[in-house]
Amino acid sequence: MKYYILFGPPGAGKGTQAAAIAEKFHLCHVSTGELLRAEISAGTELGQRAAALINDGKLVPDEVVEGMIASRFATVKDVDGFLLDGFPRTLQQAEALDELLDEDAEMVTAVISIMIPDTMIFERIRGRAVKEGRADDASAAIIQNRIDTYHAQTEPLIAYYKARGKYREVDGAGSIEKVRDEIFKIL
Ligand code: AMP
Repeated sequence: MKYYILFGPPGAGKGTQAAAIAEKFHLCHVSTGELLRAEISAGTELGQRAAALINDGKLVPDEVVEGMIASRFATVKDVDGFLLDGFPRTLQQAEALDELLDEDAEMVTAVISIMIPDTMIFERIRGRAVKEGRADDASAAIIQNRIDTYHAQTEPLIAYYKARGKYREVDGAGSIEKVRDEIFKIL
């Protein structure tokens, strides 16, 4: 099985690119953000607890998202692999993922990182807020919290995966098609 990680700051275009990649390479796209938003819409207890954190631009606890990923790996069949979007986001999650895959003698295949500068994050998320109506896209303060969270907790993963020879980066500032073609070339 292939295990790809789609990495990058909020607004880099991970969700936009994921569908085309998953289809072309017969992968199951797993977005922890989407799974959490589904829990919120369904009004579950988990969703209610997660909503406060998400709407403040903070991360939900590692165990919550690790459990979501483990249950996907256990239940989804008939694919050539997984495309993880928005996971892992902390070093603990990255280590938990390595351990989970190791149990099945598997490992992360590659990390595809879509990079955009902080200045572009605001523009992109503002544009998306109009189309998707996400509560955590609504205010500049929440967006700033997500950018800060990304730099503090998620960015260290770049060094983690570089040290393991898994890290590949594309420039996310171009058009959707250009970024997609660059990702296809890597894969
Ligand atoms: P996303 O759709 O990937 O931008 O995720 C939206 C929000 O869900 C994030 O800002 C976090 O609050 C939460 N979230 C998504 N994925 C994770 C994760 N791997 N770890 C912790 N929180 C997450």
